[in-house]
Amino acid sequence: MSRLDETRAILRDLIAFPTVSADPNVEITVYLADRLSALGAHVELVTDRTGHKASLFARLGPEVAGGLLLSGHTDVVPVTDQAWSSDPFTLREEDGLLYGRGTCDMKGFVAACLAHAGSVDPDDLETPLYFAFTYDEEVGCLGARQLVDHLKGRALLPRLAVIGEPTEMRVIEGHKGCCEYTTVFSGLEGHGSAPDLGVNAIEFATRYAAKLLELREELKARAPTSCPFDPPWTTINLGRLSGGTVHNIIANHAELDWEMRPVQVEDEAYVKATLTSFAETELLPAMRAIHPGATIETTVIGEVAGLEPDKGNRTRDILLELTGANRAETVPFGTEAGLFQSLGMETVVCGPGSIEQAHKADEFISLSQLQACLDLLDRLVPRATRSA
Ligand SMILES: [Zn+2]
Repeated sequence: MSRLDETRAILRDLIAFPTVSADPNVEITVYLADRLSALGAHVELVTDRTGHKASLFARLGPEVAGGLLLSGHTDVVPVTDQAWSSDPFTLREEDGLLYGRGTCDMKGFVAACLAHAGSVDPDDLETPLYFAFTYDEEVGCLGARQLVDHLKGRALLPRLAVIGEPTEMRVIEGHKGCCEYTTVFSGLEGHGSAPDLGVNAIEFATRYAAKLLELREELKARAPTSCPFDPPWTTINLGRLSGGTVHNIIANHAELDWEMRPVQVEDEAYVKATLTSFAETELLPAMRAIHPGATIETTVIGEVAGLEPDKGNRTRDILLELTGANRAETVPFGTEAGLFQSLGMETVVCGPGSIEQAHKADEFISLSQLQACLDLLDRLVPRATRSA
């Protein structure tokens, strides 16, 4: 069987596991673990508290420092309310395209990794080839976050990492982070004719929103020099503001949904610290002078770490050389790459298929993209697992 045929057969199996993020993914992870174990890999499963979700971390080759990590997520987005031409969890092939939920995002890459692993003789590897397959990427990178915590502090970690999200095999060295929050303001109701006797939650929510807009301007000046993102600074957006009941009642409740897309972790920390101090030293004292029970509470909806472009990124340099691309690019979507980068791995995003097809009805990946991925792995793995 050709490597491509094998990839297709594995992908058929992977698509048949309906691993929508809301549902368990243990079965697909056990399937992947069994296949990798059969190839001689050392496999670890990292399960969440419920035991229904698992990530896999596997090592092929010697137990030494360095090596290359290939990573992908096993969960997929829902198919509810999407008009599919055929069963999304049965792989369908037509005109060189493979249809099914998760084909491009990102089980196609996972299948290519497994097919490639089958061709590797572990004894030929000078440094290890690692695989990480995670759960719940689509709902905030929960599996990767847990895996990274699990791996933190280990002496032997991969030095290089490729996250195979669909980039049509373009080499991506950076993306912004994406942090989403809801801030809730609780005040004190009262008659509209006596504003000083109540605590108007809308008033404090708008002052908080104004602070966010002030920060938004300030962040432009904090942009790192020659930052490749568009725009090249951390952005803040106010997404939804609601509160109150009617004209003549002092609003005792307001909610603000907002997001920040940091280009550097320092900005994220700066925004959080500024807001905390603003709330604690200005807003809350004013609110509590009238009503001691007044609160401002922020809930994290999701925090996806950014992938910060780095001068010394050997994974990028090798991939640029192998693909012949002139330069690495950035993308406007978030991935797990920043989490692996936080462990010190030199990380890029590069994988088969197009983000254009991700999350849509009739999601597909082309056989030619899978072939391109297999060809690149064939050349990348020997290079990246050579001891430096
Ligand atoms: Zn994805």
